Amino acid sequence: MGYITNMTIKVRDTLTGGTVELGENGRVGIYVCGPTVYNHIHIGNSRVHLFWDVAVRYLRSRDYEVKFVWNITDIEDKIINKANEEGVSWREIVERYTDSFHERLALLGVGMPDVEPRATEHIPEMIRIIEELIEKGHAYPSENGDVYYAVESFPEYGALSNQKPSEMRETEKGETGHKKSHLDFTLWKASKPDEPSWESPWGDGRPGWHIECSAMVGKHLPDGADIHGGGTDIRFPHHENELAQSKGAYPEHEFVRAWCHHGMVRMTDEKMAKSIGNVVDIKDVVERFGADAIRMWLLQSHYGGPVDFSEKILDEKGRSWERLVRFYGQISPSKISSEDSARLATGLLEKFDEAMRDDFNTPEAIAAVFEAVAEAGRAISANPEAAGEFASLADAIEEVLTILGFELSAAPEEKAAEVDGVSVRYSGDVGEGALRLVAGREKARKERDFAAADGLRDELHSGGWAVEDTPEGPVLVRRDGGLRE
Ligand SMILES: [Zn+2]
Repeated sequence: MGYITNMTIKVRDTLTGGTVELGENGRVGIYVCGPTVYNHIHIGNSRVHLFWDVAVRYLRSRDYEVKFVWNITDIEDKIINKANEEGVSWREIVERYTDSFHERLALLGVGMPDVEPRATEHIPEMIRIIEELIEKGHAYPSENGDVYYAVESFPEYGALSNQKPSEMRETEKGETGHKKSHLDFTLWKASKPDEPSWESPWGDGRPGWHIECSAMVGKHLPDGADIHGGGTDIRFPHHENELAQSKGAYPEHEFVRAWCHHGMVRMTDEKMAKSIGNVVDIKDVVERFGADAIRMWLLQSHYGGPVDFSEKILDEKGRSWERLVRFYGQISPSKISSEDSARLATGLLEKFDEAMRDDFNTPEAIAAVFEAVAEAGRAISANPEAAGEFASLADAIEEVLTILGFELSAAPEEKAAEVDGVSVRYSGDVGEGALRLVAGREKARKERDFAAADGLRDELHSGGWAVEDTPEGPVLVRRDGGLRE
């Protein structure tokens, strides 16, 4: 299928608060701040990577040429502290938690970027920017070998985080004796003995966190980043400082065309926060709810706003996903397309494109899938034979869900069994006993013997099963969240 790539993508830019149109030349460069690798990333950290992976999949599916970059911050105080605590080298900490980061993203089904630069591989580039800043009067070395950014020298400072310098808090505690102003931040830090260090014109030392990203954006997206992503928590000071560095050193050069900031994941479920810990490990969450339920949860909120994490919400998302899979399983064997199917498929793909081109509105995109499913479901309820005539809708649903990164292929096909005269639908391996309980419950319900029906339902529950009553009869599902094995 050919797509018109001269259509642009609209993105909301945090810096101006306005909308920026991107991709007019068919190319999009995206940079996202990656983790400082000193512990396991948690579910909140994963949002930005999962989301931009989806945006990239979408752009590529519409024939845009995308360069996607996220970095690894592999030198920072936290890494050095962790290494000292454990009595191991900082490089060991870096390798351990970089592997952990990759492993957790893979569990979530998040793909890798085109380039994953490490900060320590870009020391010469950082030194060059710092030299440029000193030359232009935006930075100064102190006598102890630190180099600081002179915030007052950059009048636009504060624009990205919408603050006036006079109202800003100090962002770096500690040795302020060498700074000219409390707002100035570190570009280069003189190293103490036994600390990792690199040679520089100001003596041995290591880079500050902010200069790392300025150097890596410049190196890997030399024409500037169309989109620079990251959480709202690093909008200030990290992104504000990146902007001051890159624009301060190279005022003529376009650094970033749109800043896109993600809302935070909020822990609203006290019980869950207590049982798993406030910092929820992705391994536990994937094991408990499945990667597709997590994806459904994250993509059904707009990236710009916060998203609540609770057991109840994740359970609901798991059930929504199951319903989609079940419906897809019902229509995917279709060999023909009715008029309804063609109309719904076209409408779905149009709405999907419209939503994704409008600031990657994934909640709208998923809503379009559910709308089409609901309408087709009504048609099938009225005429069960119509289930075999939705080939084009099945293809459209598959296309959309695949771009959004769901694992539709992992869904087992739905089966049906006649048990004691009742048709029961299920998927995966189901024992005879569970099917008999469902059939018995269905019969009891028809005879209006609700006490017996409830008893049989409880028996199913304790065996790990639940029954969903649909207009086409009962469906047996696993209680622990999945049709997936
Ligand atoms: Zn960064």
